[in-house]
Amino acid sequence: TGPRESTVPPRSGSASSVRVEAPGKVNLFLSVGAPGPDGYHPLTTVFQAVRLIETVTARRQSAQDHGTVTLTLEEPDADVPVDESNLAVRAATLLAQTTGVSEGVDLLLRKRVPVAGGMAGGSADAAAALVACNALWGTGLSLPELSALAARLGADVPFPLTGATAVGSGRGDLVTPIMTRGAYHWVFALAEEGLSTPAVFRRFDELTGGGQPAVRDVPEALTAALRAGDTRALAASLHNDLQAAALDLRPELAEVIAVAEEAGALRAIVSGSGPTIAALVEDPGSAQRVSRALKASGQVADVLRADAPVAGARVVG
Ligand code: ATP
Repeated sequence: TGPRESTVPPRSGSASSVRVEAPGKVNLFLSVGAPGPDGYHPLTTVFQAVRLIETVTARRQSAQDHGTVTLTLEEPDADVPVDESNLAVRAATLLAQTTGVSEGVDLLLRKRVPVAGGMAGGSADAAAALVACNALWGTGLSLPELSALAARLGADVPFPLTGATAVGSGRGDLVTPIMTRGAYHWVFALAEEGLSTPAVFRRFDELTGGGQPAVRDVPEALTAALRAGDTRALAASLHNDLQAAALDLRPELAEVIAVAEEAGALRAIVSGSGPTIAALVEDPGSAQRVSRALKASGQVADVLRADAPVAGARVVG
């Protein structure tokens, strides 16, 4: 694949801004292995990109701002840093350093993925920033080159570049797209307080003595369900090794799962490292009933509905 991938438009020349959208994700399957000598857990996962869309607009700076990367949130949020620790800022900085660009950029970020919810919103922002700056600066990196940079920013950053549905191996950063049919409908129950991904992995290690020596392969039943577009079969195959750890840290999430399933969800599971609960439903009507029941339960901070799969990071303006 060359530099003319659909996500990587040709040199933009004099465009003064580039707007990019990138999706959040849900893990349909997550098997976690024992950490290696580097401390990282090997894992096998199936990512599905959901229609909760982050938007990053990269704006060219005036000459006097030369070389700085700034970030503004469309809606200020105390839980999202706007300094150099923001993943989108780190992504732009890494791309500039790698390609020798001395120009800076002003990033504007609109968030729709819940923060610290186990849905990789920050990773989507980083992926979007890579694609936006690559176009703005005309650095012309190919999708595989951007994926390699993405993996240096975090294990979950390569997937939102690709989007749709994919198997993640290694630390989740080695992404292989898989064939699926149809649309799936999700209801996401948000918690008031986020969960730290490292804290969930630590509890996982405490509960399991470090995880299984070898990660499990993606079950054939799950890939067959996706190929067939069979929502019920997919529901039966959903699995998350981190669920027990997340429920141990937040016992009240078990009640949220029960509410969703009693209201007709085919299955409800912890999304990634949580605390978001992802409920797979048969159709939009069921999504409405599950959503209503979750809101009425008083157990959740908010409820979002989204269909899936959707495309990876792409230039929209
Ligand atoms: P993952 O599922 O990849 O582990 P997550 O979805 O649980 O991640 P994020 O919302 O991506 O969590 O971010 C977790 C933390 O990272 C936040 O609490 C925040 O302090 C920090 N952070 C850095 N950059 C961002 C960003 N662009 N958006 C949100 N949080 C960010």
